[in-house]
Amino acid sequence: MNPFAKGFLEGIIPPPPMTVSEWSDKHRRLSSKGSSEPGRWRTSRTPYLRECQDLLSVTNSDVERVVLMFGSQLGKTEMGINFLLYTIDHCPAPILCVAASLDMVKRMSRQRLEPAFEETPVIKAKIAPQRSRDASNSMFIKEYPSGILMLTGSNSPAGLRSAPVRYLFLDEIDSYPADASTSGGVSEGDPCELAIKRTSTFSRKKILMTSTPTLKEFSRVESEYLASDRRKFFVKSPCCGKYQTLIWSQMKWEKRDPSTAKYECSHCGERFDESHKTSMLRQGEWRAEKPMTRKTAGFQMSSLYSPAGWLSWPELVEEFLRSKEDAPLFKTFVNTRLAETFDESYQSQLSAEELLEKCEKYKPGTIPEDVICLVQGVDVQGGSGTKDERIEISTFGIAPEEHMYLIQHDVIFGDANQGTVWKGLDVLLTAEWPHPNGGTLKVDCCAIDTGGMATNSVYNYCRERKSMNVIGIKGSSRPAQPVIGRGSKVDLNYKGKAIKGGATVYMVGSDTIKDVLYSRLKFNNKLHFHCETDQEYFKQLTGEKKVLKKSGRGTEYVQKRNQKVEALDCAVYAYSALNHLYQRFPRSKIFQMFTDRLLNSANLAKKQRLNSRKKSKKSYVDNW
Ligand SMILES: [Zn+2]
Repeated sequence: MNPFAKGFLEGIIPPPPMTVSEWSDKHRRLSSKGSSEPGRWRTSRTPYLRECQDLLSVTNSDVERVVLMFGSQLGKTEMGINFLLYTIDHCPAPILCVAASLDMVKRMSRQRLEPAFEETPVIKAKIAPQRSRDASNSMFIKEYPSGILMLTGSNSPAGLRSAPVRYLFLDEIDSYPADASTSGGVSEGDPCELAIKRTSTFSRKKILMTSTPTLKEFSRVESEYLASDRRKFFVKSPCCGKYQTLIWSQMKWEKRDPSTAKYECSHCGERFDESHKTSMLRQGEWRAEKPMTRKTAGFQMSSLYSPAGWLSWPELVEEFLRSKEDAPLFKTFVNTRLAETFDESYQSQLSAEELLEKCEKYKPGTIPEDVICLVQGVDVQGGSGTKDERIEISTFGIAPEEHMYLIQHDVIFGDANQGTVWKGLDVLLTAEWPHPNGGTLKVDCCAIDTGGMATNSVYNYCRERKSMNVIGIKGSSRPAQPVIGRGSKVDLNYKGKAIKGGATVYMVGSDTIKDVLYSRLKFNNKLHFHCETDQEYFKQLTGEKKVLKKSGRGTEYVQKRNQKVEALDCAVYAYSALNHLYQRFPRSKIFQMFTDRLLNSANLAKKQRLNSRKKSKKSYVDNW
């Protein structure tokens, strides 16, 4: 055929109807640069992607939007690249591809797209080799016959206002800013909306939106998924052959040993390991929860489905164990592995009833064996004639790895501007607590709230007991504050200079500490309570809840309705007292130091006992 006729025919013969999966299996090559499994693309390796990508095929006109709310290690970005390459080769038209920022675009272009173009021969033949100064093929623009691929960042309003496009790939939409305007600029509106507007002139358009989700109520991908037909992937269980979705709560393992991870069938209760994964994925199917509206198909999938050899169940369990005690890490786990949004209030959702079951055998006022030092947190209520004047004191025993044991919680009634309550506190402060292994413990640091109506009385008390490590503190509810800050002098002379030996006040990051304490209450057993701890104590301890601020920016702790929270405040202050000790002694050595001290104290007591026994024997002899 002469070249003219060939070109002519190419112009009028419609492309043979091919799906994205068929095209990818035939043409796509994975580069050794960007992929752990270089070579030919096989949709059978990630069978769940077949339906997602085939809805983007030119032959399928029912669906306009495909939303993937996916965990990591499932191949969603590679699928996005399949979509782009398929379009370039099979049904060329203008395409816009948006990443979170211009930097991300550069990275995506260099690390993922260019290698994919290079390795896939049919594409390589269509895109001119990249030359500097060549406008038709730069980092942000790729031209090919009958189309152009434009790449931009969600923070670039100019890029989002580009020419009309038929195909749109919005990658990681939850990391886009709320507004496309660059910092300080005028409001440009939502970057997704701006990009989608580019497609409005085309009737047979395709929009792919993918992301791991982020914060509940703020997640774009979740709201898109919820507005879709909500598909979930059902797999056939190897045990009883029934279908189910894989969910985290069915993952089981033996105590702290991720290698024992198995999945417990939610139908028959039998446990199976991940050697069945490959066949389960092959026999799996997407099922929608709702009929489709707005031509939007939505898919949710967690990393539990990650194909064999990518991310294993034991690895997930290991990550879970590592993250569950650390709020930010745990949030990442929930988002990127479970593909679920994170509810900031989740960790603070604790019930007093649940905690009552955590009470341990030791009696109030006694020291459990592990404890090697004592700290106190003191909350001051009222002052100078107000109602219910009192101070409340929680004494906590500290064991290695920051285990905290509630030893006792005391309330001393009286005016904090009078001496009586402070005399009561002196008794607790100077008490010697016998340790079960011998020796005694005394309070190593006591932190008192200065924020109430008796500020000056607290200053006076702290000033006089500085040598006993009694400190004044002031809580700050600003987010991301250090647990305890550097002290600032509050006793100033008439020139405004600090008086030597004057009182010092330490700022305490209350919200930071509440995050620590609440996540420990929820996820591990580092907080211990004596056998007589009552419901009222736990009600106060759980009396606050983390919520999203009304402004929508960030979170804050709020008191539950009609709920006192003195026990929580005392625990927060006691934890700040422990952290004050870290300011004075190196954190790496402090627990060993206290252990040695206790041992010395026990030895000393033993010696004294022996001596006094000798003495009494001697005196007995003398008397005789
Ligand atoms: Zn079963």
